[in-house]
Formats: sequence, structure tokens, C-alpha cells
Amino acid sequence: MDSKTTVTGYAVKAPKGQLEPFTYELPEIGKEQVDIRVAYCGLCYSDVNMINNDWGTTHYPLVPGHEMVGEVIRTGSEAKGVKVGDKVGMGWFSASCMHCPQCMSGQHHFCADAEQTIVGRHGGFADIVRGHWSWAIPLPAGIDLAKAGPLLCGGITVFNPIIAAGVKPTDKVGVIGIGGLGHLAIRFLRHWGCEVTAFSSNKSKHDEIREMGATRVIDSTNADDLQAVKGQLNFILSTVNVPLDWERYLNCLALKGELHTVGVVLEPMSIPAFSLINGEKKVAGSPSASPAVIKTMLDFCVRHQIYPTVEEFPMERVNEAIKHLTEGKARYRVVLKN
Ligand SMILES: [Zn+2]
Ligand SMILES: [Zn+2]
Repeated sequence: MDSKTTVTGYAVKAPKGQLEPFTYELPEIGKEQVDIRVAYCGLCYSDVNMINNDWGTTHYPLVPGHEMVGEVIRTGSEAKGVKVGDKVGMGWFSASCMHCPQCMSGQHHFCADAEQTIVGRHGGFADIVRGHWSWAIPLPAGIDLAKAGPLLCGGITVFNPIIAAGVKPTDKVGVIGIGGLGHLAIRFLRHWGCEVTAFSSNKSKHDEIREMGATRVIDSTNADDLQAVKGQLNFILSTVNVPLDWERYLNCLALKGELHTVGVVLEPMSIPAFSLINGEKKVAGSPSASPAVIKTMLDFCVRHQIYPTVEEFPMERVNEAIKHLTEGKARYRVVLKN
């Protein structure tokens, strides 16, 4: 019996290259692994970073894609929690060791041996993706599959800080950068109960941003406009990956407020100490989240019908989709359909 599985997808073969049709073989499935037939896969900016080897962690050829939703088509003999036919999602992580202190305390995304879906292995711009059962997150009934993919990376990246920072429904909050991540952050925080201020330099988006649930939109390029919320915000989430005048935003924080970044700014953040000391403020950051928090987020999304605004491309037009994203044209998240 041939127990190998042939996977068909799209791979990049050199930094900044185009994706090309690509097939590869998966060995016999491991006891704790599951195979997912990918229905949709979101396109995240981290896919572009990996295609370009921006972080020095890319192995070529690479099949990118780490926001998959689809159906379980095969399970190893000791896979738990999911069965063939279940609808599941998988994001940045595809396995963790399940016995280290991080895994044992429910923080699987901090596992030192965690497997990242597109680091040293292939992801979801393909018909099948494989991973450990623990990261094949069961999707709640009634979820819109065509829009759910981006929740598995983009969504959880901005949902987790709300939990990690203990944001309260009575809080006034801010979101910097209203793109793929930021527009989901506005929706989450609004449904959480918060008053949301959006900071965006793109005036053409301001009306849309109010419709997403922002109480006010501030032109972040205008220092005077930022005065409107001086000392008022309990929590500010930054989703941008470029350096900003951070002191301006720290001045918008209320006493003991937190500026939290999920945007990967490669340059050091310049933070004057007095802007933290006066008001006992904090600067923090966070990565993705554990499977349990992802499940909590998915339930919250179905309860409140929170989805990204998506633009759908067929999988075979993946290069066009990537160009659309890198040219800054995505409104607001691109999804590839198999
Ligand atoms: Zn572990
Ligand atoms: Zn991502």
C-alpha cells in the first residue's frame, strides 16, 4: 500500500520570486497528525516576509500560506479532538511538543519546539496541509468559511492582546494602522464594549473605518488631531510595521495605560523614559495565541458575526493576489480559494 500523499500547491523557489505550481510528497501520516483539505487560505503579510526571506528563516522551495480553513480528510491513530469530516482552521503554528512547561500551562504558542506552518515546511497555498491535532482548531457551527481564514493569524494576533492586557468593556482604546489587522481589531474591540479611536493616515479610508465601529478616526499624521485624545486611552494597539513617533501615542494614554504592538517594527522603538514614568505607562507586545484562545475568539466571532472584509482570488491567481497586497490595495484582507 502506498501511504504517501501527493500535495499540489504553489511554491516560491528564490527570494522575492514568483510562485509556481509545485507538488511534493508527504510521508505516511504520524500518529498524532491530521491532514486538512484546504478550502480557503488567507494571505497575510508574513507570507510576503517569508517569500522575500525578510527574517532569514525561509527555506526554498516554500509553499506559503498560514491561514487555512478546510476539512479533516485523514487522522493518525492517536489524533484527538478532531475526526475526518470536521471543519477546522490552522494558523501560524502547526504543532507543539505537548509536554514542556509552556504547553503544559496552556501556552502552546510559546513552546520552544513549536512547528511554524511555513518555517522549514510547507503551508496552505496548496490542496492539503498537515499538522498536529492540537493546532487543527475545530470551527464553530455557522461560521462563514469563505471569510474565516484570516481569523487564524491576522484575527488572533489582534484578539490575543485584548485578553493578554486585560482590556475592559468600559475602556477607551485606540488602534493604530487600519489594514488587515487593524480593521479586525476595531471590530473586536467595539464588540468587546470599548470606545474605539482609530489612527489612520489614509483619509480615503476614514468613512469606512467609522462604519467598522470606530467612534472617531484621527489623522495620525497631524499632531494637533492627536491632542483630542490626550491622556484618555487605556489601551492602544499598534498594527503597523514602520517606526512611528511613539511618544505622541504614549501621550494619548491614560494613567497606567498600555501601548501594545503586534506590528513587527524591525527598527528599535524610541521611548523617552519620562513618557512612561509620568503616569506609570507600559509598552508591550505579543505574538499569536494558544489553541484555547483561538477557539474562544472563533466562538466570539460567530456570536457577534465578526469577520474580516475580504477580497477573494482563486488559488491559481496567487501571484496577482500577492501583488495586490504588496501594492497596498487590499481592502482589507485577501483570501485564496481552492
Ligand atoms: Zn511544548
Ligand atoms: Zn500571518
